[in-house]
Amino acid sequence: MSQRPTVVVIGAGFSGLLTALHLVADPQGPTVRLVERARAFGRGAAYSTGNPDHLLNVRVANMSAYPDDPEHFTRWLATHEGWSSHGGFVTRGVYGDYLQDLLREALENTAAGRLLLEQDEAVDVKRAGEGWRARLALGREIEAQAVVLALGVLRPAPPAAATDALLGSARYVGDPWDPAASLDEGADDVLLTGTGLTMIDAAVTLWRPGRRFWAISRRGLIPRAHAPVAANTPELQATGSPREVLAAVRQASGDGQWRETIDALRPHVRGIWEGWSQAQRQSFLRHLRPWWDVHRHRLAPSVARRVGLLMRSRELVVRAGQIVSLAPNRENIEVTWRPRGGTITRRLTVDAVVNCAGLLGDLDRAREPLLKQLMARGHIRPDPCRLGAEVDRTSRLIGTGGAPEPGLYAVGPLTRGAFWEITSAPDIRTQAAETAQAILGRLRRARAA
Ligand SMILES: Cc1cc2nc3c(=O)[nH]c(=O)nc-3n(C[C@H](O)[C@H](O)[C@H](O)COP(=O)(O)OP(=O)(O)OC[C@H]3O[C@@H](n4cnc5c(N)ncnc54)[C@H](O)[C@@H]3O)c2cc1C
Repeated sequence: MSQRPTVVVIGAGFSGLLTALHLVADPQGPTVRLVERARAFGRGAAYSTGNPDHLLNVRVANMSAYPDDPEHFTRWLATHEGWSSHGGFVTRGVYGDYLQDLLREALENTAAGRLLLEQDEAVDVKRAGEGWRARLALGREIEAQAVVLALGVLRPAPPAAATDALLGSARYVGDPWDPAASLDEGADDVLLTGTGLTMIDAAVTLWRPGRRFWAISRRGLIPRAHAPVAANTPELQATGSPREVLAAVRQASGDGQWRETIDALRPHVRGIWEGWSQAQRQSFLRHLRPWWDVHRHRLAPSVARRVGLLMRSRELVVRAGQIVSLAPNRENIEVTWRPRGGTITRRLTVDAVVNCAGLLGDLDRAREPLLKQLMARGHIRPDPCRLGAEVDRTSRLIGTGGAPEPGLYAVGPLTRGAFWEITSAPDIRTQAAETAQAILGRLRRARAA
């Protein structure tokens, strides 16, 4: 029998899958048990959709799963059929096919029993001697030397103004990423609470002739479009405080080159974020984040064109302001909102509300049983900016005592507090590879001891 150690990876979206693949790629590496509560392994929230209107928001050239093999995805596309390019962007469903192919290959090419798929929800993880014990919803327990939390995007918290009556009704869609999310056919006017990428997704998905969307967020900013043709990324060195980085970006963006400037900043984002104090990070989040988000996370040009048409025909109306109350009655929902900078409130009558607030960061508001248990046990704690869970530079989770929890890691959006830009594939793929190497090193040291 094999004496291999075991690593449990919880969550089989992009982050968990890639971490697992790197772990089993090492012939001396551990047995990996990949736990996923959804039916499909490898797709996660982003790539489970079969909607042909759901395009990647990153060009295919930058979507390889492997940081050291940037052509990997384009090579895969070249040998597969059933997809079409929309100006360098493919559907998210096709990307999900790619990820599932990687999983299939790994299952075929690794020794039997090295990569085990566990379809269940992990509900608890606790210390067990030198290692960990994960408990699954159906009652099974798995002992492991290391555990990786790759839980992905946490569903947004309900709007503060929503009543229980609304939240419990079919007129409220709380999980905008649920592929089965739908509205009553009779819903003509729909409130979208948020104006970012999730709002765009919801409007594109739920559109039908005669339906009007009202999208409200504090600033009313919507994501900008990618350029129709990929541009060369120039070199940009920007360091210092948020104010200094902003000044450097503004200067380099002269002549309308803001896209190139933002892209050039990308490799430096982690260093800049790590160099900022907590106060500087908070200041960035308060004042600059909405602007950063809409310039950095852009729309495929064809999606942007569609959104432009919806806005011109007033099928999508975007407003800056704050929602004050959401009062459902027998017929519809009365929305009271205050325009940004104003004192007088306005009213709006809608038939349904879709929560488009984007991913949740504040762990204290998370409803996930696993996160609640881990917090209660003191194995994880919120990061100071409330963007997720606190981790160190090697993605080890920090417990309530302030020290890294040995053998407990997180990968993906949960680690935004430490790395900030860690929500899209080009960033996560590097973290997944590095975290797997850190785990392999730890297991090697334990074996040698
Ligand atoms: C709608 C949408 C579109 C996006 N489009 C792009 C894009 O075009 N390009 C890009 O680079 N990035 C995109 N992103 C960013 C995306 O978050 C990352 O690319 C990446 O998919 C994140 O993967 P993940 O594994 O961290 O998270 P997820 O995809 O959320 O996967 C986490 C998985 O963990 C599972 N899970 C959670 N808790 C448990 C538990 N307790 N037990 C068992 N299983 C559990 C979930 O079921 C899920 O499958 C998009 C995100 C969203 C939400």
